[in-house]
Amino acid sequence: MSDDRITELPWYLVKQPAPIITKEVTIIGAGIAGCTAAVALQRRGFKVTVVDRHPHAGAEASGNSQGIVYPKLSPRDDVLPRVNLAAIQFCSDYYQPFWDRGLGKQCGILVVPESPKKVEDFAQISQRFADRPEIVQSVDNKQLCKLAGIPLRAKTALYFPQLGWLPPALICQQLLETHNIPLIQADIHSLDHDKDKNSWALKDSAGLCILNSETVVIASAFDCKNFAQSEYLPLRKIRGQISQLPCTAESSQLQTVICGEGYFTPAENGLHSCGATYNKDIFTREVRDQDHQTNIAQISATDPGLAAALGEPAIESLSGRANFRCTTPDYLPISGPLPNVPEMLKDYAILRRDAKTVLPTRGSYLPNLYVNCGMGSRGLSYAPLTAEVLAAQIAGETPVLEQALLNAINPARFIIRDLKRKRI
Ligand SMILES: Cc1cc2nc3c(=O)[nH]c(=O)nc-3n(C[C@H](O)[C@H](O)[C@H](O)COP(=O)(O)OP(=O)(O)OC[C@H]3O[C@@H](n4cnc5c(N)ncnc54)[C@H](O)[C@@H]3O)c2cc1C
Repeated sequence: MSDDRITELPWYLVKQPAPIITKEVTIIGAGIAGCTAAVALQRRGFKVTVVDRHPHAGAEASGNSQGIVYPKLSPRDDVLPRVNLAAIQFCSDYYQPFWDRGLGKQCGILVVPESPKKVEDFAQISQRFADRPEIVQSVDNKQLCKLAGIPLRAKTALYFPQLGWLPPALICQQLLETHNIPLIQADIHSLDHDKDKNSWALKDSAGLCILNSETVVIASAFDCKNFAQSEYLPLRKIRGQISQLPCTAESSQLQTVICGEGYFTPAENGLHSCGATYNKDIFTREVRDQDHQTNIAQISATDPGLAAALGEPAIESLSGRANFRCTTPDYLPISGPLPNVPEMLKDYAILRRDAKTVLPTRGSYLPNLYVNCGMGSRGLSYAPLTAEVLAAQIAGETPVLEQALLNAINPARFIIRDLKRKRI
């Protein structure tokens, strides 16, 4: 006897998928989320155009000279570390050709514990991954000093040999250039769908149509909130500043990225990048001395050996860069089709009364409209994977992630969750 019982709400299945005929996709945003999505779609035969308000790619959050491919594993089998594990495995292959061409360095990342609790967690992580030394290894002080190339004080660390740092702006630019993907400069203010033409009109602030496109991917980080269709997303804008510190004879020997309270990169052109600050209520891009101070304090807190190697940099002469992360309440990225929020609220209203109700109703999604954002502090790690997830969905291919992880990054998850918690 076949078992057709529905055991889970099929909210993530699209009720009435719109046809894909012209295979034209426009991506709003030329940061790492938009550029990786552009390439993933072009590889699947789509005709891709990227639109950004700046003339070149990687001009906002994805514009630092050195960004690290940050790992975030856990002793627990939660969704967040599972997505992170899938992301770092995927992106270390993805970035290999860039590293091979000398863009950034696959120098390995050493993560030192920030607290006694982290020491315990790290011991459990290294046990869990004991048979995967290519992903992570536990190292003692002697090993970590050898790997780092400078004396550090941490007694233990996790070492990720396949990760490293990259220049995010150059990666964005090269992704578009090497694939001949056009970048149009325009500030898009609204999106209107024409059902008869099966097409979206991308309009500027004067209401002028800049472009029509069958499919649109919104990859404009926090500014996704400016579009009526993605305004409901619970995004936060978090300022961050990095500091660039001149290397000393000793610090120039550093071979790996060091992470702990903050992160610290090997020197490139005589400068180390370190950071980053985390401010919820400051919205200036001005580089601030007090943030340089915070970054330098984070270096000592990460490892006093690192601070000793650097000497005492003069704060007032430091350079830096400030921009904004786009974060989500569950720290997971957002990638997938955009829901039709009023329809979803109507279809799943019963969840407010009984969160365990199982309805056979599929989710209502907007026709051929997608989002790829919420990369938080880990855009370099997440973007290649979420781009692949998104492109596979748009192309109607077999998903590249297991369903639980796809649901965990689905843009409609907040609606279902909030209905169940009676918040909406
Ligand atoms: C100080 C700092 C340090 C960081 N360090 C790291 C790190 O080491 N490693 C790491 O993985 N991550 C790091 N991050 C986070 C990382 O920068 C982000 O996760 C990532 O860059 C986000 O990429 P994105 O493409 O989503 O956004 P963005 O790079 O901001 O791209 C969005 C693009 O959309 C465009 N846009 C927005 N609205 C519109 C519109 N209406 N019309 C047209 N164009 C529009 C913008 O111009 C922009 O180019 C750091 C962030 C900060 C602030």
